[in-house]
Amino acid sequence: MICEVCPRHCRLQEGQLGACRARRAESGKVVCANYGKITSLALDPIEKKPLAFFRPGRPVLSIGSFGCNLRCPFCQNHGISQVGAEESEWTETTPAALADLAEKLAKERGNVGLAYTYNEPLVGWEFVRDCAKEIRARGLANVLVSNGVAAQAVVAELAPLLDAANIDLKGPDQAFYDWVGGDFGAACATIRALHEAGVHVEATTLVVPGRNDRDEDVDAVAGFLASVSPDIPLHVTRFFPRWRFLDADPTPVATVRRLADVARRRLRRVLVGNC
Ligand code: SF4
Repeated sequence: MICEVCPRHCRLQEGQLGACRARRAESGKVVCANYGKITSLALDPIEKKPLAFFRPGRPVLSIGSFGCNLRCPFCQNHGISQVGAEESEWTETTPAALADLAEKLAKERGNVGLAYTYNEPLVGWEFVRDCAKEIRARGLANVLVSNGVAAQAVVAELAPLLDAANIDLKGPDQAFYDWVGGDFGAACATIRALHEAGVHVEATTLVVPGRNDRDEDVDAVAGFLASVSPDIPLHVTRFFPRWRFLDADPTPVATVRRLADVARRRLRRVLVGNC
C-alpha cells in the first residue's frame, strides 16, 4: 500500500507503520494510527503558535499527538514528534469532547477555539478534520500549526474548515529541505493554497547557524511569501541547540534582527522570535 498523505509516499506492508509513525497499513488501507490520541493539551497564548495578527491577546486550546513526517535534527518537540504510540504517553479523546472543552474555555477564559500543533498535525489529518467540523459548528476558530509538507488534496480538504495557520517555511530551497527530510515545493504550495482559500496565514523561519542564515536565504524565503502576498506575516526565529543538533551555538540575536530587516525589504510584517 502507498500512503498519499505526504510526499514521502511510504510503501507499506500490512501492519507496517509509515515513516511518520502516525499512519499504518491496516486491512488493505493506510489508516490514521494516532486518531484521537493526545500527548499534549494546553491553553496557550495565541502568540505562542506563533500568530501575531489573529485574535491577539487571546488564548487558544492547543492539542498535539505523536508523529511527524520530517526529521529536523534540531526539533524542539522530538519527544512527541519523533516517536510512535509505543514510545509516547497519550490519552484517548474525541472531537466532541475537545469541542466541549474548547466551548467551556471560550466562555470562561476567552478561548479562541482549537489549535492543532506540537507534533505534525497533517499526518493525522482525519482527526483535525473531524475536530474542525465540531469546532466550526460551535462558532469557534480552527488554527493549524504545520510544516506544510503534505499532499495538496489533504490541504484542500482541510482549508475550508480552517481560520488561521502558521506554516513553516524552513529554508530557501530543496537543498535545505533535503537536510530535514521534507519537500520545499509542498510547503510552498500549502502556504499558497491556504492563503488563496482565505485562511489567515503566517509563516515561520527558524534561523539555524550555518544552514540558512545568509541574507540570500531569508531573501528567497521572503521573496516566495511576497509572491503569494506581501501582507503574509513572517516570524524570523532564533535557534537553540536541541535533539541531534547540539554542536551549534544559539543564533546570535544580531543575526536574527539583521535577517528580519532583509525580509522587510519584501514583506510588510516581519517579527523576530525567541530573542
Ligand atoms: S503521512 Fe506518514 S505514512 Fe504517509 S507518506 Fe507521509 S510519512 Fe509516510
